[in-house]
Amino acid sequence: MKERVFSGARPTGRQHIGNYLGAIQNYVKLQDEYECVYCIVDLHALTTLTDTRALQKNIREMLLDWLAAGLDPQKSILFVQSHVPEVAELHTLLSMVTPLSWLLRVPTFKEKAKLQPQNVNYGLVGYPVLMTADIVLYKAKVVPVGEDQLPHLELAREITRRFNTLFGETFPEPTAKLTSFPMVVGLDGRDKMSKQLGNDIELALTVEQTRERVMTAVTDPARRYRTDPGHPEICNVFKLLTYFNAPDIEKIAEECRTAQRGCVDCKLLLAELINAILKPLRERRAALAADPQYVTQVLADGARRAEAIAHVTLQEVKQKMGLI
Ligand code: SF4
Repeated sequence: MKERVFSGARPTGRQHIGNYLGAIQNYVKLQDEYECVYCIVDLHALTTLTDTRALQKNIREMLLDWLAAGLDPQKSILFVQSHVPEVAELHTLLSMVTPLSWLLRVPTFKEKAKLQPQNVNYGLVGYPVLMTADIVLYKAKVVPVGEDQLPHLELAREITRRFNTLFGETFPEPTAKLTSFPMVVGLDGRDKMSKQLGNDIELALTVEQTRERVMTAVTDPARRYRTDPGHPEICNVFKLLTYFNAPDIEKIAEECRTAQRGCVDCKLLLAELINAILKPLRERRAALAADPQYVTQVLADGARRAEAIAHVTLQEVKQKMGLI
């Protein structure tokens, strides 16, 4: 029997190339090797969102990108977190075995609390418990993560171990599967690519829009004039060229170092590569978007299949905890 993978992503709407290179491509590959459960974690989104008017639209846009990129609802379970209410109940039960001190020491909690001092809600502190509930509800053994997510997963393992010690072996301890693209830097050349920061390139842009976005990318900051020698090793456009398998990459690096190449040449090449690679995805997306019923059906099917697993796990947990 195939091992089960769980991964969740916040409903951030249209996906960008950072999501694609860092997560979605990997999700697609894992489908053949594992039984995959991919969840759009709308409850997690509420820890930082106060204006939820775009939430439903964002869920559907995200799913469209997932489907267009090759996530197959016949192979994987694709669903929305809150459509399977068992996760909220398991979250409560796991919160009873999780010492508060474990949660307060999580670095991302401290960072988020600093970012939104006006909204340091309980959900923000309990985020790792809900994340643990997401994973163990489906008894997933493998969790694909970027390096920045490792501390959360370690905490999930600790909570799992504690539950198993207190109430008997129930959940497999989830293990990390590191993605080969831990972090894609945005067009500002500084921060992780993110819609919020406005430094992203959406997958579903047109050819022309893609070119316009790429032309705004920061390159080697030390290279002020075309005649200055460049440093490809610190240039984000160069990095993106390698991610998109640019041909003759060594030659590009050499031409940059000897100022025989301008940054506009690299950007035009990058835009061309992105447009060529994403062409089939964009065509599939347009076809899928023309049938809104299909997205509704995929989500309903996914929730039904996820709930069938969740229900069995929750019954077992309640029994072990003496609730039934
Ligand atoms: Fe980067 Fe290319 Fe400009 Fe060199 S020439 S700094 S590799 S964009």
